[in-house]
Amino acid sequence: MTSRRDFLQASLLLAGAGSAPRLLATPAAGGARVVSTWDFGVGANQAAWQVLDAGGTALDAVEAGARWAESDLCNPTVGRCGNPDRDGVLTLDASIMQGDGRCGAVAALRDILHPVSVARRVMERTPHVMLVGEGARQFAVEQGFEPRRLLTPAAEQAWREWRETERYAPQINAERRGRPGDKDNHDTLGLLAIDAQGRMAGACTTSGMAWKMHGRVGDSPIIGAGLYVDDEVGAATASGMGEEMMRNAAAFLVVELMRQGRSPAQACREATERVVRKRPEASRTLQVCFLAMDRTGEVGAYALHRGFVYAVCDAAQRDTLLESASVYTSEQA
Ligand code: ASP
Repeated sequence: MTSRRDFLQASLLLAGAGSAPRLLATPAAGGARVVSTWDFGVGANQAAWQVLDAGGTALDAVEAGARWAESDLCNPTVGRCGNPDRDGVLTLDASIMQGDGRCGAVAALRDILHPVSVARRVMERTPHVMLVGEGARQFAVEQGFEPRRLLTPAAEQAWREWRETERYAPQINAERRGRPGDKDNHDTLGLLAIDAQGRMAGACTTSGMAWKMHGRVGDSPIIGAGLYVDDEVGAATASGMGEEMMRNAAAFLVVELMRQGRSPAQACREATERVVRKRPEASRTLQVCFLAMDRTGEVGAYALHRGFVYAVCDAAQRDTLLESASVYTSEQA
């Protein structure tokens, strides 16, 4: 498809993050590490690292990191400041998984600030994996989560402006942050962690695609699509157009490719190429991004289009931000 992709480098240290230490391929034996999607992953990693550094579990760490992002006042794609659906309703999706296969998820959840924590309660306190919509909200309230109006004035204003055209045209996301009410963005915080005991966990949280149909659920809360973790192999998460991840059981695919011997970077690349093979034309106009970490702590990423950045944090590096290689360069798309 794209001969030039062969010339793309593996992860590049981003300009501006030049003083940060280079990513170590593998942390010191027994070392903990957390990695996250996008530049807001830096802040999420730091919240997660506080847990890991104190000897906490990977599960507690990814929940802490996801909660940080859900509270972020500058993020129009995750949590309380997320953009709403086409009816002006903010609905949140989240999942959490640990390496022994236990997992929980919520989808189309309204009025609850921390969907990742509700997902964890689904995992720990119900016989189920996923609750959606009103049932998820009811469960959250029963569990003591306080319902509150989450839609921010900026997001509501962005929605009103969108209604002037009502054109659903997700854009290829790239690094551009800190604009509450951003009109056409969609991103997800996906975090993967390994703790000092070698246990792995992951979490995914998002408000999904801005201006999505009411009731639309993306990949982030779907175990195997937006997130998958297996202590025997490693973990993977995704961001971008969730429908493509769901069509390809993508996070599971990345983990299974690692099981077959691919490195995290190779596995992410093959999963991305699978998306291209299935829908070559569509793949030119939408973004798909994968981030993976194997059980030794080696990290890899790959995206359809340029601009996917991810954050790495461990004992040797607290705020490293890297750009993944991609199938298409901007001239090709
Ligand atoms: N994957 C998310 C969704 O489809 C959006 C994103 O990460 O860009 O809901």
